Amino acid sequence: MTELAMSEQSDLWRAARAQFPILDQRVCGRPLVYLDNAATTQMPLCVLDAVKEHYLTANANVHRATHELSGRSTCAFEAARQRVARFIGARFPEEVIFTRGTTDSLNMLAQAFAAQRGAGFSALVSMLEHHSNFVPWQQAALRAGGSFGVAPLDERGDVDLEALERLLQEKPAGIVSVAHVSNVLGTVSPLERIVELAHGHGWLVSVDAAQSIRHERIDVAALDCDFLSFSGHKALGPTGIGVLYGKRELLQELPPVAFGGEMVDMVRVAGTTFEDVPLRFEAGTPNYVGAIGLAAALDYLESLGGEAVREREHELVKYAEQRLEGVADVQILGSPLRRAGVVSFAVEDVHPFDIATLMDKMGVAIRAGSQCAQPLLEEVYGVNSVARISPAFYNTFAEVDAAADALERVVRMCRMAQR
Ligand code: PLP
Repeated sequence: MTELAMSEQSDLWRAARAQFPILDQRVCGRPLVYLDNAATTQMPLCVLDAVKEHYLTANANVHRATHELSGRSTCAFEAARQRVARFIGARFPEEVIFTRGTTDSLNMLAQAFAAQRGAGFSALVSMLEHHSNFVPWQQAALRAGGSFGVAPLDERGDVDLEALERLLQEKPAGIVSVAHVSNVLGTVSPLERIVELAHGHGWLVSVDAAQSIRHERIDVAALDCDFLSFSGHKALGPTGIGVLYGKRELLQELPPVAFGGEMVDMVRVAGTTFEDVPLRFEAGTPNYVGAIGLAAALDYLESLGGEAVREREHELVKYAEQRLEGVADVQILGSPLRRAGVVSFAVEDVHPFDIATLMDKMGVAIRAGSQCAQPLLEEVYGVNSVARISPAFYNTFAEVDAAADALERVVRMCRMAQR
């Protein structure tokens, strides 16, 4: 039996798969092959159960009332904050701010940073970024009258560290915000080196961990990054919940940018004072049930063994890359030193939407489009759309085979239609 087949059959992965009954269905008459995990992951039964259990037994608004249910809800919400802090290696639970997702976290951070620095605002991103880690910084710079720079990539699709260092030297020190893992090329950025370079030149570092939260080990204290953002729905959790991590001393200096209940200390006609972190950044009723679901998801990921999940996802993506390389006319985007999570590809003279639509008819769910990374696609690769396959640990190697076979058929069909 091959090594692949052995891992296929391991009890761990079979039991894991059973946690995701949504995968056990037919689409267009074919068994569903869900390979769009970079867009959103599915939720295991244990997360759905945790959410349901909370609604059934403990639901009440948090922090506000003295009654029993509110107390239970508050305890579960604050326990979720501690869970997230442990998962990412934060020193203190109050370094974890609950947001609506990565996009919300990065907008909040960019706006707070702009409010703090004014015309002295300076931000640097890379050409790899998702729009969520590009546009908030660009727009904040425009509004503040500050500076915005973009580090180029090398020919493989890795951030050009020499060019990044030149920008760090030339521009006024501010904040560098980079993707840990690119949602298009799968590039894993060398964060340790980026943090070292940035700090060496007096810059802060924000990490977009939307993709890496499942694929890479994250330890914010060891890495010494200043901020980090991710979304629950890409880590087996519910939608509408996300995290902004920040070093406590830095969060304490940042002004809040959303105002309302929960985040205030004293409100008078003459003025308002604010709560300490994290509450000063959580205006209004937080998505406490989302946070509880996210905590259950992180518990589940750890129960599988974080390293085992990461290894399996790396194996699956490596296998997907090999299989796609074998399909005639398929061009894989980028060849980063280390790839995680996704393989994006194009087929000459076939639109990615046609590929994804036809593959869907064969039961295979993949993504096609700009992948929310127009600067990368249009300005680096000169295309406006690509197709993308992104496995998760609950996928099987046989499903990757099914996707590659479906793609082969699609390419053949399109070539015949072009004759
Ligand atoms: N950053 C990266 C690298 C992503 O892949 C995504 C989503 O695909 C985001 C940010 C935005 O995440 P969300 O839509 O959950 O806010």
